[in-house]
Amino acid sequence: MAAIPLPALHASHAGCWLAEPNSDTGGRETRGCSKGEAINAAADTPMLMINAPLVATRLGYPDLSGLDLLELFAFVHPARFCVPTARGLAHALDLAEPEDDAAIPAFLQAAAGALIAHCESDAWAEREGAWSTLQSLMRLRWPWAQVLSPHVRKPEKPEKWLFSRLPEWEDAPERPQPAQVLIEENEAEGHLARLTGEGAERREGQRAYTRSASGVFAPRESRGRPHLLLAQAGTGIGKTLGYLAPAALWAQKAHGTVWVSTYTKNLQRQLRRESARAWPERRADGTPPVVVRKGRENYLCLLNLEDALQGGFAGRPAILAQLVARWAAYSRDGDMIGGDLPGWLGTLFRKRGIAALTDQRGECIYAGCPHYRKCFIERAARASAQADLVIANHALVMINAARGRHHGPAPTRIVFDEGHHVFDAADSTFAAALTGQEAIELRRWIVGPERNARGRRRGLAARLADVASYDEAGGEAVEDAVEAAGVLPSEGWLGRLAEGMPQGPVEELLGQVRALTYARDESGGQEAGYGIETEIAQLPGPLIEAAQSAQQALAAIRKPLLTLGVRLSAILEDPPDWLDGQGRARIEGARHSLAWRVDLVAAWEALLGRLGGPTDPDFVDWFAVDRNDSREFDIGVHRRWLDPMQPFAKVVLEPAHGVMLTSATLTDRGEAGEDWEGAIAASGAPHIALQPKTGSHASPFDYAARAEVLIVTDIKRGDLPALAGAYARLIEAAGGGTLGLFTAIRRLRAVYGRIADRLARAGLPLYAQHVDPIDTGTLTDIFRDDRSASLLGTDALRDGVDVPGESLRCVVMESVPWPRPTILHRARRAANGGGAYDDRLIRARIAQAFGRLIRTREDAGHFVVLSAAFPSRLLTAFPPGTPITRVTLDEALARVAAGPPGVQDATETGTLNGHLSPP
Ligand code: SF4
Repeated sequence: MAAIPLPALHASHAGCWLAEPNSDTGGRETRGCSKGEAINAAADTPMLMINAPLVATRLGYPDLSGLDLLELFAFVHPARFCVPTARGLAHALDLAEPEDDAAIPAFLQAAAGALIAHCESDAWAEREGAWSTLQSLMRLRWPWAQVLSPHVRKPEKPEKWLFSRLPEWEDAPERPQPAQVLIEENEAEGHLARLTGEGAERREGQRAYTRSASGVFAPRESRGRPHLLLAQAGTGIGKTLGYLAPAALWAQKAHGTVWVSTYTKNLQRQLRRESARAWPERRADGTPPVVVRKGRENYLCLLNLEDALQGGFAGRPAILAQLVARWAAYSRDGDMIGGDLPGWLGTLFRKRGIAALTDQRGECIYAGCPHYRKCFIERAARASAQADLVIANHALVMINAARGRHHGPAPTRIVFDEGHHVFDAADSTFAAALTGQEAIELRRWIVGPERNARGRRRGLAARLADVASYDEAGGEAVEDAVEAAGVLPSEGWLGRLAEGMPQGPVEELLGQVRALTYARDESGGQEAGYGIETEIAQLPGPLIEAAQSAQQALAAIRKPLLTLGVRLSAILEDPPDWLDGQGRARIEGARHSLAWRVDLVAAWEALLGRLGGPTDPDFVDWFAVDRNDSREFDIGVHRRWLDPMQPFAKVVLEPAHGVMLTSATLTDRGEAGEDWEGAIAASGAPHIALQPKTGSHASPFDYAARAEVLIVTDIKRGDLPALAGAYARLIEAAGGGTLGLFTAIRRLRAVYGRIADRLARAGLPLYAQHVDPIDTGTLTDIFRDDRSASLLGTDALRDGVDVPGESLRCVVMESVPWPRPTILHRARRAANGGGAYDDRLIRARIAQAFGRLIRTREDAGHFVVLSAAFPSRLLTAFPPGTPITRVTLDEALARVAAGPPGVQDATETGTLNGHLSPP
């Protein structure tokens, strides 16, 4: 089909363009127009556009709607990757890229034509289910439905609906324990050579790394004393295959499972790719040897989807549910967050529709669910119990270890890649917080829907109705728990607290917590609109009394939950006739989630029990009022371990047989070189009196020739116009390809607001976290896809962006990334050497940020710090040999404009020197 004859609109920071059918000439023409004209045109007729929420932001008109090409793409090609820009769409559809902004409206018409023509073709791979979904979308008045309808032919036979099309998982017996085998260093090295392939260059660092990793898989000599290896692996040594080689050998010989735990989704994707060298996609029996496993809140819950499709969602969210149903039929594993569901799909629909389709609240009814045998979560859990390699994340590994076995044995051979993040993951996993939001979640889980609640949420009574009718004591326990949970906070609690009218003992306590936090906080957050906090010390009597009442109320909830757990166990031990395999699985599931809630409530009680008593030196406790732009969204009592590696050592290390922590930044590099003592202390090993093995493998990259650090000395601290000007000029000098890192969202937004238009007019698109309505993963995809684009962001970008090649050739850091002076930080700083602790943290952050720049041997670029007050003692954060110069902004601009170090021939990189010369 030729270009579709519908008007099209594009808006960027550089301007707005409209393409309208021209009745005089019979053709189409594109013209620039004002924002007002664009808004009026879009209000009159449905316009073709790409990424409507982003166009709406550019126009400053939030209510904009139209025919979004991304929605059409999601319908035609569900579960297929596409960068959500005109350029990305061109790549996905194999069309010519539009040359500039002005060419985009005509491109959108052509792309829509191509997508619609594809629906008519016999080659349409995702035809099955499309016609039926389109009928539902017509009823929902999806703008594309009318346009598409004539082009999607009715199938000859009625189509099966999603829930009957999905395959069922197979049950398999539990794997026997792994065999005790030894992986010799030479064997591991030989396997590495096979995996890297004939003719691959011999990488000495990688070979040495593999040899040392093989020791992790040796049989354990004494109980509670795993083999522990801390391996510093400089960027580019090839650590992934380096540890996969001995892991694959061990899994093959021992018939056991190795878990590789990561912090970022990027690394999970990379591992999935690289593991294909060591394992086939399927074993001979059809099962997958490699499984990606995530927390259950990542997966689509089919019961929630069914509910959404049958009236649980209305309006735009109902359209989203239909598109998600299209995706579910083609998805590899049902992973909605970072899997094959496009990250942009949820943001097109603005509300939290995606989250509502996952099992966020642990309301799964297991075998009581009609989709249990097709459930993506159950399938992933079963597959991982049989897998050779499970790719997971730190939080999941720790939660699995802490909450005990539910599906298969707990991991015993674990590689923590991105090991520098284990501390943070342990910090959140082993934290306790009694907040209003958490308490409401518990109430909903026990009580179920109240008043105007929509959806399928069910309380304990509905989930365990058959148990209650069979077992009198169990039934009474459910009733008691529901009654006791009635005193927990409920909808509207924040409003009641603000008015001084709390309901029930927990709201009463939170009201006092709030008042005391406002009375004592001196962080400066009150005026700035940020969250506020105060330590738990010298508490007034009424607050301590309120804590005691709340504690009693929580104990009254926990007791019937405990009784119920006992009754469920009794039913499983002496099962009634009606209890079939599925019923049993459901009760086991219920018992598991019950045990988790009982632990949660017990932790809250313990937390409250200490208020007013002596402080426990192992913990840091504080009250907090969480706020965003002065708007309160949660209030609570918080507790963290002073050293979260203490529970980590007990819960994860001690039961394991072999553990490896690896990262490019595992050790701090101070003036005295690599600090192994600090790295060992940070691994948790001393808590179980373990002496780990250590190894250090330097990066093969030539930092001296390929990178340059420029510390700019003439931007005054706090001078926002100067900071913004410096960012704009550096991005212009680099011709885009710049990652801008900020320590404060407010400054990021201010700089973005000042420079985005100017850069766009020069053909240098600028995107920003916390500004653009796009998730971080998708922002990175856009940045990677367009070498003239630049991206501004905060912590998540500093640690997780993996953009090899020319798209990233300059990193600009606005200032030294000092830690936020929170109460928790104050306590850890005092316990760990004061200023030296801060320096270690900052060096680790700088090393991570610098690590974004050079990802491969061919990469080159500048790392610019816009802060004259950059202390020399922090410079050891950069890899040895990296040239570091203090320069004025003008000098920095001249160097950046000259092109990346080592590649200063413009023809080699395609980089045109000087600003305003985008490629
Ligand atoms: S088994 Fe649980 S998570 Fe799976 S579809 Fe059913 S309710 Fe959802």
